[in-house]
Amino acid sequence: MVDYTMKDITTCGGGGRKHGGAAPPCAACKLLRRRCAKDCVFAPYFPADEPQKFASVHKVFGASNVNKMLQELAEDQRGDAVSSMVYEANARVRDPVYGCVGAISSLQQQIDLLQTQLALAQAEVVQMRMRMRQYSNNSSTISTSPDHHYYNSRRSIFSMEANMEDTFWSS
Ligand SMILES: [Zn+2]
Repeated sequence: MVDYTMKDITTCGGGGRKHGGAAPPCAACKLLRRRCAKDCVFAPYFPADEPQKFASVHKVFGASNVNKMLQELAEDQRGDAVSSMVYEANARVRDPVYGCVGAISSLQQQIDLLQTQLALAQAEVVQMRMRMRQYSNNSSTISTSPDHHYYNSRRSIFSMEANMEDTFWSS
């Protein structure tokens, strides 16, 4: 099983490139063997010391598509866009059939399983409470008036069921 964690989403170094002088080309321009212009759209997000980031994004999306996607975004959104593209690309490289859909559907399955387990556990709690109430009703005959007792237990069981339904349908 592939380990799908969010570890691939790294914060992009963003923005801190020193211009002027003989700045080393960014990872993108280095891979594409082109001159890294002062206003290179890749440079803030693909620093030279992390060549793998651009390599997988280029392999999956293609450099010109990445370029286009970044150009269409506001600058303050580009860092997040690059992070998610790198994540998607790495997932696709690891799992050529499902890519990050593999991670999504495996997490969806876990949610379904856990929701079923939760519903079962909640049903068990309801049953146990009912049994406890029956037991205490049988053993304490003198303490409170039977009407009052009955009303209380009915009410809490109903509210428990309502809660359960909430959890069921809210997702
Ligand atoms: Zn560049």
